[in-house]
Formats: sequence, structure tokens, C-alpha cells
Amino acid sequence: MNRIISAAVVVVGAGPAGLAAAAAAADRGASVVVIDSGGQPGGQYWRHRSERTFPDSDGAGHHGWKTYRGLRRRFDAAVADGRLRYFPGQQVWMAQQAEDGFVLRTSPAVDSGAQGITVSALKLVLCTGGYDRQLPVPGWDLPGVMAAGGIQGFIKANGMLPGKRFVIAGTGPFLLSVAAGIAEAGGKVLGVYDSAALTNWVPHLHAAALVPEKALEGAEYAGVFARHRIPYRTRTVVTEVLGADCVEGVRTAKVDNRGRIRHGTERTIRGVDTVGFGWGFTPQLELPAALGVQTSVDTDGSLVGTVNDRQESSVPGLFLAGEITGVGGAALSVLEGDTAGTAAALSLAGTPVPPRRDRKNAYRRFAAAMHAAHPVPAVWLQWQRQDTLLCRCEEVTVGEAQHALDTLEASDSRTLKSLTRTGMGWCQGRVCGFAASCLTAGQNAAPSEVSLASTAKRPLASPVSIGNLAALTGPIDPPPSRTESPA
Ligand SMILES: Cc1cc2nc3c(=O)[nH]c(=O)nc-3n(C[C@H](O)[C@H](O)[C@H](O)COP(=O)(O)OP(=O)(O)OC[C@H]3O[C@@H](n4cnc5c(N)ncnc54)[C@H](O)[C@@H]3O)c2cc1C
Repeated sequence: MNRIISAAVVVVGAGPAGLAAAAAAADRGASVVVIDSGGQPGGQYWRHRSERTFPDSDGAGHHGWKTYRGLRRRFDAAVADGRLRYFPGQQVWMAQQAEDGFVLRTSPAVDSGAQGITVSALKLVLCTGGYDRQLPVPGWDLPGVMAAGGIQGFIKANGMLPGKRFVIAGTGPFLLSVAAGIAEAGGKVLGVYDSAALTNWVPHLHAAALVPEKALEGAEYAGVFARHRIPYRTRTVVTEVLGADCVEGVRTAKVDNRGRIRHGTERTIRGVDTVGFGWGFTPQLELPAALGVQTSVDTDGSLVGTVNDRQESSVPGLFLAGEITGVGGAALSVLEGDTAGTAAALSLAGTPVPPRRDRKNAYRRFAAAMHAAHPVPAVWLQWQRQDTLLCRCEEVTVGEAQHALDTLEASDSRTLKSLTRTGMGWCQGRVCGFAASCLTAGQNAAPSEVSLASTAKRPLASPVSIGNLAALTGPIDPPPSRTESPA
């Protein structure tokens, strides 16, 4: 039968935001439960090799490892003395509001034969992060095409490479980090192609100067690129991935500032076995959406949860931190997590959160500058062919989607889904949802909140087995009394 537990504060996610939220709430004396689909703490940014096999990682290849070690010390101390219960490898597939808080249902993230759990919470802190945003391109369904972050995650988790000869493309400084990681791990990077121009940063130098450590990080990558002779091309896109049964090469072209191809600049690069694409990140908004939080569209075109200065959402008692409130990097996620965990713990006894001075605003302004300097090109649709797959799960082509738009007036991604099955497959629109939202908005418009929200809103946040559903029996024990938690 499904195990049922309760805590004053429940945190979902053990990445930078979740670790900081859990440590802050536990340090304030609240009983805390942390649920994370990852097998060990760290999230995307601090993903690392198995602690069972490599217990003393020195953080090589990671930034902010000292911050991580500090958070882990507080987290592990709270686990050791019973203030914090940690459930790794569990995925929350449903979140509901209850009479006095929230109820979550989980299932094992990998098919381990383990049972899911039911968790009740007085206060809930969601820190579910994000995943790589993708755009379709001819050939992106070939084996060997990966998300740029997928390549990085593979290296961080396994200490080995998923290929030998790489091309990295899309937009944003994250591409530099991925390419540098590949080169340092012994892979050959044949080229990094960013659709944006570095001069896009010129109007934003003031915001960039607020976070000088990012410039240092950039200089570090420049050193790696020089040492490994990695070609870095701006205002350039991969227009096609070439290969019969797997990746063999790519076709690139120069573009203008809107993403229009400059004819005559096309090049073919052969001898490639792995291509990594990254067009920014998509915040993982299923759980906040299921709980009905107010959302907005951020400067990068992502749907994000709206919060106040305590990180509390429009749903009382529900706090959001990290990438789900706006893609802004790990340092910002830690600060937001710390605020959310503190506010959740203090709110149990109605204690106000003391005012604090931190660098959240500096990081947010840097993130806004980065999004403005590295936009998704307005006319990316121009690089597509009619037979390019838009939805890889259901094999819906750009031409079929365009037909639904032109003749059946599919003006949002939900209607497009009903008419063509785009986003109806295994990934449930996580991969194609952004592109489908852009497509239905038209060439020059940003994706609408309605379209983005319809790809985030699902009755079940993740796949769950029938066995786990069947185990959902028995009453839920009452949440701990408010007096159990300290002021
Ligand atoms: C693949 C990838 C690589 C990245 N690498 C970098 C990088 O090198 N540099 C950089 O500046 N930024 C990077 N980012 C951006 C980055 O994610 C962050 O800035 C930072 O990790 C955000 O912290 P977070 O706590 O908000 O989310 P995350 O670190 O993403 O942590 C979220 C956690 O929540 C868990 N989770 C999500 N949904 C559920 C659920 N339903 N149930 C249970 N658990 C759940 C996830 O497993 C994860 O452990 C990367 C992002 C991705 C997707």
C-alpha cells in the first residue's frame, strides 16, 4: 500500500533552489520533507557522478562547488538529526490543494519496483527547475541529436562522452559551457554556432557589469576554446542535420538579426557524430499550473510562475523558487530558494520575514539582458521544410501543422494538438510545446500565455504506472499541527 507521510514544509526538487529552501526551512526548525526525482542532490547545475561510487567529488568542472558543499553540509546535518526527510528518486505526478495545505502523490522516477508515496504539507515549496528548449530543424530526429544540456548532463553524471565529434548550436552562453565541458572531457568540438551576435550585449553592458563573475566565467571558456581550437561562430545557425541512419554532418548558414538566412553563406560540415541544440530553457511548470498559480510570459518567452518578494505564489502557502519563476541561473536559484524556505517556515507561525539585502535583483537584471541578447530568432520557421518533424513523438510535420493553421484556424497550441496530435505523445509537448506555441502565434509574434499554459497544464505531471495508481488506498494522515513548527 502507498506510504503516507506529512511535514510542515515540503520541498519538491533538490537542485540549487530546492537545496537552499530545504536547508533554510530546516534551520528555522520546521519539519521538512524533500522529494526529488534525481537519485542524489544537485539538480541540473550540480549534477555529479554517483556518490556511492565517487564519494569525494572535488567538484572539477563545476562552478559554485563551495556553495554546493555548504548547502549539502546543512542539508545532511538536518537529515542526520531527523529535521529533514529526503526522498530521492521519487517523482511528484500530482499536486492538489487540501483543506489545510497540499497533498502530493509520487511514483518512482525509474522503474525500480519501489512504491510511490503520498505526502501532505502545510506549506509547499516547488523548485522543479527546467529543461532545454528545442526548435525543430530537418534531421533533428536522427540518432546522435541531443539537447545541449543532455550532453552536459551525460558528462557530469557518467564522467564520459556520448559521442566523439560534436557540433553545438542554438543560442546563449550555455552553449559555451557545454562545448568547454566536452573539450575538457576529451571530445572534439567541430563548431559552436550561436544565432545571436555578441554586439547584442552592447546595450546591456550595465546589467552585465552587475554580475562580474559571469565575465570571469566567459573568460575561462574563451581560454578553453583557444586551447582546444574550437571554432565559435555568431549569427550562424544549423539549418539541417545530415545523415542516413544517424548524424553524419550539419549544414550551417549565416543569418541576420531576425534569423533570416543570408544566401550564399551555407556550409556543410561532415564527420560529426553528435549535435547538441540549446535554445534556452523551459521552466518545468506542471505542478504550479496544476495548483492554479498565476503565471506570466517572461522576457525569454517562457511561461513562469508569478511570486511576491517572499517567493510566495498567488496560491497562499505555495512558494516557488529557481527556474520556474524565470530562467536566471544557479546563483539566483539559491537566493530564491533560501528566501522561499525561510518564508515558508516562518509563515507557519505567522512570523513576518525580516527584510534582507541580497543580489537577486542584480542576477535578474543580468538574466533579462542575456535573454534580450540571445533571443530565439523571429523567423526560425524559414529554415524548416514542409516535411520537417515538428512533433517527434506523433510524427507531425511542419507542413501538416501549417495546414491546420491556414485552413482550420488553429490559433493556439491546444487547438493545434486537437487537430494534428502535436504534443499528444510520450513527451506531452515538453519538447515541441514551445515551437508549437510560436507557430500558432505567427512568424512575428511571441508565443501567447494561453498556448504556453496549455502545454504546461496536465492532469498528471509525469507518467505513472497502473501499479502505483492501484496502490493509492487508505486515508491521508492529518498534517502536523501548526504548533509542531517553530516561529
Ligand atoms: C540539462 C541542464 C544543464 C544545465 N547546466 C547549466 C550550467 O552549466 N550552467 C548554468 O548556469 N545553468 C545551467 N542550467 C540551468 C540550471 O538548471 C540552473 O540555473 C539551476 O540548476 C536551476 O536550479 P533549480 O533548483 O531551479 O532547478 P534544477 O537544478 O533543474 O533542479 C530541479 C530539480 O527538481 C527535480 N524535479 C523536477 N520535477 C520534479 C517532480 N515532478 N517531482 C520530483 N522532482 C522533480 C529535478 O529532478 C531536479 O533535481 C542547466 C539546465 C539544464 C536543464
